[in-house]
Amino acid sequence: MNGRYAPSPSGDLHVGNLRTAMLAWMFARSTGRGFRMRVEDLDRVRPGAQERQLADLAALGIDWDPPVVLQSSRQADYADAVATLAARGLTYECFCTRREIAEAASAPHGVPGHYPGTCRRLSDAEREARRSQRPAALRLASDVDEFAVHDVLHGTVTGPVDDLVLVRNDGVAAYNLAVVVDDAAMDVDQVVRGDDLLTSAPRQAYLATLLGITPPEYAHVPLALNTEGKRLAKRDGAVTLADLEVLGWTSADLVAAIADSLGMSARDAAGMLAEFDPAALPRTPWVFVPPEAPAA
Ligand code: GLU
Repeated sequence: MNGRYAPSPSGDLHVGNLRTAMLAWMFARSTGRGFRMRVEDLDRVRPGAQERQLADLAALGIDWDPPVVLQSSRQADYADAVATLAARGLTYECFCTRREIAEAASAPHGVPGHYPGTCRRLSDAEREARRSQRPAALRLASDVDEFAVHDVLHGTVTGPVDDLVLVRNDGVAAYNLAVVVDDAAMDVDQVVRGDDLLTSAPRQAYLATLLGITPPEYAHVPLALNTEGKRLAKRDGAVTLADLEVLGWTSADLVAAIADSLGMSARDAAGMLAEFDPAALPRTPWVFVPPEAPAA
């Protein structure tokens, strides 16, 4: 059984991402699990980002069990999962534009962010007519409104489940499907990630059960924020290892800063792993104040 870290190679990892990765690694290794790495490259990919991300993770002392899995090489498995669901009548084509979905969700009785099921109710003739207008996405015909997951830090979390997209209208597997299929294929039974994804967990766990997969144990950890209380981003200054190195930090300095942020006294990854206690983790976000560049 394994834990995992699943970065999207859209740019360099910032200190908040690196801290989440260290937590995922500590959760896995401290419970005797393997630790796997998955590159979520179905969306925007920046050339070289994958290599730099893995190099940064290794520089912090994180190790993982090969092979690194690339989502772009996993289309056949995603298609099999879709075929399984389709054979059970659990999928339907959706032709809605983002705008139509937003308008429906803001209508009376609409649930913000929730797909209202418009295309689930199309007649065969209507569906045929819409096929000639735009390519369809494929949605899950969900038969629940909510689903409960277990999270080590949040307890039992019950959240909404809608008719989530399985295959985007460009034919590529959607994030929620890929995560569920990949975690199962990689023997992942523990998912540690930023708490911005807590609301995705009920959808993913429900989809897993439909595919005969036991949902993983979750731990959604607090994010890193900037001094304004917003989610940390590249524009907040020196927030990547490369940025910090320009200012004289070493990877060891960053590990020490992450350890401090977690209330740990160890100064390196091995020591942090030995000291790791999920019950002692801070439950509030980490406000990261980037160092200033020295005056020229
Ligand atoms: N690739 C996602 C991200 O970088 C993480 C997905 C996951 O951990 O399930 O935010």
